[in-house]
This record gives sequence, C-alpha cells and structure tokens, in this order.
Amino acid sequence: MNVTLHGAPARFEGGLREVGRGVFVWLQPDGGWGEVNAGLVVGEGASTLIDTLWDQPRAREMLSAMAPHTVVAPIELVINTHSDGDHWWGNAEVPDDAAILTSAASLETMHEEAPPAGLARLRKLAGTVRHAPGAAGAMGRYVSDMLAPFDFDGVRLRHPDRTFKGERTEQVGGRELRLTEVGPAHTAGDLVIHVPDAGVVFGADILFFGVTPAMWAGPLANWLRALDLLLSLDADVYVPGHGDVGGRAEVEALRDYWRWLDAGVRTHHAAGRSAMETARTLIREPQFARYRDWICPERIVMSVTAVHRELSGKGPIPSSPPARARLFAQIAAIKREIER
Ligand SMILES: [Zn+2]
Repeated sequence: MNVTLHGAPARFEGGLREVGRGVFVWLQPDGGWGEVNAGLVVGEGASTLIDTLWDQPRAREMLSAMAPHTVVAPIELVINTHSDGDHWWGNAEVPDDAAILTSAASLETMHEEAPPAGLARLRKLAGTVRHAPGAAGAMGRYVSDMLAPFDFDGVRLRHPDRTFKGERTEQVGGRELRLTEVGPAHTAGDLVIHVPDAGVVFGADILFFGVTPAMWAGPLANWLRALDLLLSLDADVYVPGHGDVGGRAEVEALRDYWRWLDAGVRTHHAAGRSAMETARTLIREPQFARYRDWICPERIVMSVTAVHRELSGKGPIPSSPPARARLFAQIAAIKREIER
C-alpha cells in the first residue's frame, strides 16, 4: 500500500503490522479523514478486535488480512473505541457470535449521529456544489474529497450489545485488556485500551500522531488528563486512532500542541476575537511551523471553535447539518490560507 485512500503518496507503510507479541495493528496511511487504524489482540483460541473501520470494503479487506490469525483464534470480542462512524460502521462484517463492547456514552451517541444514508446524501450534496463560486464551492470540494474513497451504501449498522462505564478488564484467550473511559474529549464516550502483557496502548482518537487532532466534544482539560493517564501506563508502544504507531515522544508532541492551542485561544478569546479570527492568528504564529506538516492542519479551526465555545459557556459544536456545513466551510477557508 504505497498510496493513501485519498490517493496521496503514503508517509508510512499500511496494512497489518505486529507491534507486540500477538498484538497487531491495521494501519491506513496517512491517518487523514476516515483513514483510521484498528487492532487485533490474539490469544489462545480467541481474539479481540479493536474497531471495524468505516465501510464494508475496508472492513472486509482488513478481516481477510487478519484471517491467518483469526482462523485459529476467532474474534470473540469487538471493542468500539468511540462513536465516530469511521471506527465502527464495519461492525456488521464481524462474526455474529462476537460480542461488541463500548462505553455507555458512546452507544448513546451512536444512536444520535447521522446514519450512513445521511452521509451518502451529504456527499451527493457536496458534489453538486463543488463547482459553485466562493465559500460554498470550497466547502463542497472539501467534503466531497473527504468522503470520496468510501462506500456507505453497503453499510448495515450493527450497534454494540454490551456497555460499561469507568473502567473494565476483559480476558480473551488468556490475554488481559484494561479499558478506561476517558471521554468526553474527542467524542462523548472515548475509551482507551492497555494490553499490559505486551506493553501496548491503543489510544484510539485520544492519539493522533503526525496528524492534526479533531475535537468534537471536549472539554480539552479531559483530553489533557487522558494523555497524562496514557503516559502513566507501563507501555512502550502507543497506537493512535490516526497516524503511524509511536511512543511516548509522540504522545508528548500532541500534548504540546494542545497546550499551545489552549493558551492561544484563551488569550484571543479574552481579547474579544472570534474563533475564526483566533485560528487565523494562530496559523501565523512561529510555533505553528511545527504543526503545519501534520495531516489536515486546517482542522485547527474545529479545535479552536470547540475551546472558544467552552470559554463562552456554550456546549460542544452542534452536530446539525447546517452547523457542520458552516464548520466545513471554515475548515476549507483556513486550508487555503495555510497553503497560500
Ligand atoms: Zn477517528
């Protein structure tokens, strides 16, 4: 796999990689929109699958690459790390007798979010306005390019059948998996998984390596707390939801990004600047040079908006279609300014 799903030259090797004894990661470079990672923990006669990707073709490709392991250790448990469709819409492709576990907060959000048909409609709509002038056209191009590689028509939603709150330990095929709910941060019900016997952590979308993080829910303080928790675990290998596998240095780099962004938004919010003005100012700061090469740097607008709303006492960014369209118009605008 030398190109990304979006057709760009890949920055790292995709496919199935063993990162610890019997612990595999399915990597989709470069970790941009929908290019998510999944995991497989293989035990004696049973395995655990962590996340199932965005659509049927992607899920099937991954499961057949995993087949040499799952034929002797069938998937007994599936863990969905959070409610974003790109991490769980492939659930229907796993064996019917596998249990599917997530946090109670994630399951609730899964029921609230737009279904695959809604996303297919959004892609169609974006495609029809992509040649329009101005902001509408820029938004249309951005959203239709973002969704282009995926096939939502074949997605049949299969929701998790088990939930938990707080912490939970699972034993599958003699291997221990320690789950901790750390949301709301990226989404309402984020969870992370520690595999202590291999020193591997699956940080899901609490970790973005070489990729600009996206915050839908917040508050940011929870995300920072989650990063401190991940660093406190006995682990050498950190698997992000998006981007290449890394270690503590990558976790710390993400923490630096959040601290820089948090301080900047606080300053500009206090000076009465809007979220968009704040984002425009931040991308001109010298510190931004460090983050300009991360995939999707324009997503800074989302996080600035989320923190700005927090400081104004408003809730998370609304998920209604008009609110999302407005956000993507701003993302597309900042992308042009960054590339200028
Ligand atoms: Zn994600």
